Amino acid sequence: MRHLDTDVAVIGGGAAGIGAAIAAAKTGARTVLVEAGPMLGGELLSGMSVDGVLNARGEWVVRGVAEEIFEECRQMQGFIGPLHDFRLICYVCCDPEVLKLAIPRVLARYGVQVILYSQVSETYSDNGEVEAVVISHRDSRTLLTARYFVDASGDGDVAVQAGAPFEISDASGDLQPLSLMFRMSGVENAPFLDFVRDNAASLAVGESDYVRGGRSDEELAQAIHAQGAPSVFFKGNGPFLGGAIQRGDMFPTALIMIMPTSEARKEVCVNATRVAENIMGTDAAAVSAAMPLLTEQVWQAARFLKENVPGFENAAFAGVAPRIGIRETRRIMGEYVLTGEDCRTGRKMRDVVTKGAHHIDIHQEGIKQVRIPVENGGSYDIPWQSLIPQGLKNLVVAGRCMSSTREANGTTRMMGQCLGMGHAAGTAAAMAVSGELADIRKLPLDRLQATLREQGAVLEGTH
Ligand SMILES: Cc1cc2nc3c(=O)[nH]c(=O)nc-3n(C[C@H](O)[C@H](O)[C@H](O)COP(=O)(O)OP(=O)(O)OC[C@H]3O[C@@H](n4cnc5c(N)ncnc54)[C@H](O)[C@@H]3O)c2cc1C
Repeated sequence: MRHLDTDVAVIGGGAAGIGAAIAAAKTGARTVLVEAGPMLGGELLSGMSVDGVLNARGEWVVRGVAEEIFEECRQMQGFIGPLHDFRLICYVCCDPEVLKLAIPRVLARYGVQVILYSQVSETYSDNGEVEAVVISHRDSRTLLTARYFVDASGDGDVAVQAGAPFEISDASGDLQPLSLMFRMSGVENAPFLDFVRDNAASLAVGESDYVRGGRSDEELAQAIHAQGAPSVFFKGNGPFLGGAIQRGDMFPTALIMIMPTSEARKEVCVNATRVAENIMGTDAAAVSAAMPLLTEQVWQAARFLKENVPGFENAAFAGVAPRIGIRETRRIMGEYVLTGEDCRTGRKMRDVVTKGAHHIDIHQEGIKQVRIPVENGGSYDIPWQSLIPQGLKNLVVAGRCMSSTREANGTTRMMGQCLGMGHAAGTAAAMAVSGELADIRKLPLDRLQATLREQGAVLEGTH
């Protein structure tokens, strides 16, 4: 077995992992980023909007490393910018094809060593200290030793292998559905937005008091039209999509969510498909078995849009996400378990290291979905304690697998939050290395927060 040694090892190259690797390297640590797949970005490459970087008021709640990635996209003409959905949130849209180029560029700028096509399959730990992970490549294995580890695998693979406690689902036993995103190019914006304006009853709009602001559905549809971007949600219980589901023209789904990915290609991402069979995302056979149904749903939804939505008549099917989207698996239990109430009420905390703003968003079967906004269009704090797994000294978690209840995970799983958590985790790990700390808990909170602020992270000053 080969041997590689580093200061900070980041496992998983999705939003949280790239945030962590950039931050760790920026803070001065020799950093290795290990990714199981062929490409960096994880779900960021699916084409979906990056949610949770702004609150519903349009205040940026996640900056720092996230902003650096957006800036790289902007310079490569792949940044569409913040948009309002006039339903619950504001979000940022980027071209996923540009993200594929921009992310490696930023990582290279800071000298992060990236190892693709390589999965962490084993973790060696002793007395709460992670000593090494074993990386399986196609032709060999590497023993990776590091002073500090960041688990950004989405599923908490390393933390679980090292013995951290975790939860899956809640008393319901439910798991959110799997989905496969797809894109359509050549969408004519003007007729599409006219159709949207004229079908207000079919749109998901004004789902929080703050966003509705006393406006009618028609006024909110007019606001989408005036914004001028193809950023639209057709609701599963509205006349347009609901009628299609009843006729059998569409499969049951909560929403058809349409968001822009490229102005140059007149391209949008469509989030509509779902297989809601409580499939555990780490079960490769079960996830694979969902693929034929998801691909049929993609084709059905693409055809439905072309045949029924003005502006889509001559649109071309432009591709699917690089992998099936998995919304929910394990949640690592940390020193603090963030709750749905913390998020919903926009709670501010002393040990904040990043923020969140997305509504609690739990997809269910058929046309069902839980959507609970953060009060008053505000944001909540993600505390340092919920990135520290119980019982482990030199491992930090970031991203979808952070310490939260199932309800809170419905919002913290968003890509904006994952980027922000990654930033905090990577900076903390690098500081712990340079301070030669044996336990991440010994890192002074005020020094961590001061460094994060210097690096552009938002820790205060927002609703
Ligand atoms: C269908 C769907 C729709 C969504 N819609 C939105 C949306 O519109 N906006 C939004 O902001 N969020 C959305 N989300 C949520 C969001 O995309 C994810 O929760 C978020 O991207 C997770 O980021 P992450 O970095 O924690 O994990 P991921 O992006 O999943 O990245 C984890 C990475 O780790 C790698 N990995 C895993 N295990 C190992 C291992 N053992 N060794 C090495 N590498 C490993 C994986 O290959 C992956 O690349 C959606 C999610 C899904 C599935």
